[in-house]
Amino acid sequence: MKIFDAHRHVGKGPAGRYDLARVSGTNYIFNQVSSYRANAKSVPDGDSVSLVFDHRRNLDFVLGEAKKGRLAALKIHSREQRLRESDYPVIAEKLALAPRSLPVIVDAFYYGTELDHQPSLRGIILLATRHPERDFVVAHSGGYEVLKYFCHLRELRNIHYDLSFSLQYLSDSSRAADLAKLIRFTDKRRIMYGSDHPWASPKLQLNVLEGIFRTLDLSAADRERILYKNARDLFKSRPR
Ligand SMILES: [Zn+2]
Repeated sequence: MKIFDAHRHVGKGPAGRYDLARVSGTNYIFNQVSSYRANAKSVPDGDSVSLVFDHRRNLDFVLGEAKKGRLAALKIHSREQRLRESDYPVIAEKLALAPRSLPVIVDAFYYGTELDHQPSLRGIILLATRHPERDFVVAHSGGYEVLKYFCHLRELRNIHYDLSFSLQYLSDSSRAADLAKLIRFTDKRRIMYGSDHPWASPKLQLNVLEGIFRTLDLSAADRERILYKNARDLFKSRPR
């Protein structure tokens, strides 16, 4: 079965080399404009590129890249951008300037000591309701808050989930059942496999996900949606 990695970064990290052979497409995410400027050209042709929506320092540059059709999605990352919950209304306002077809990936992995800059469920709801025509991807599916995200985002049809990093990180924790519940009860057209390489092992991510597929007895069509089709359709590759 084909695989599309919805969430990968360039560079070397603790997980080492990319350990999954059969990947038909990849969405490379740049959380910093400086890294995008330096490395976007090294992304293979046919793969897609997503760029941080740095509305404070690089708004014109990001909008320019978006309007030239170089981006598959925008990214919002509360810790990298040092966002507070009070910043989301301004982000919602500025997002109106970006092409309407461009999805927005919002980091939602709670971690670290900087409690003022953690992901914001309230912020995601604000963005998704102010921009009902735009697709939003909850990166990492909410991390240890996955059940909370599932409960509060269920009625929003423009919310998608990527399973990057969380599959392996939560697999030996009490939240593993919550992640399986999210996959079981969410529209299978709105869930995507992702790795978060180099911070996670793509192969281990796949192994954990295949275990959940077996437990839930998902159909071949649903497995294909989650592993490949959904991300391929959302992050259409754009010429650069
Ligand atoms: Zn990531």
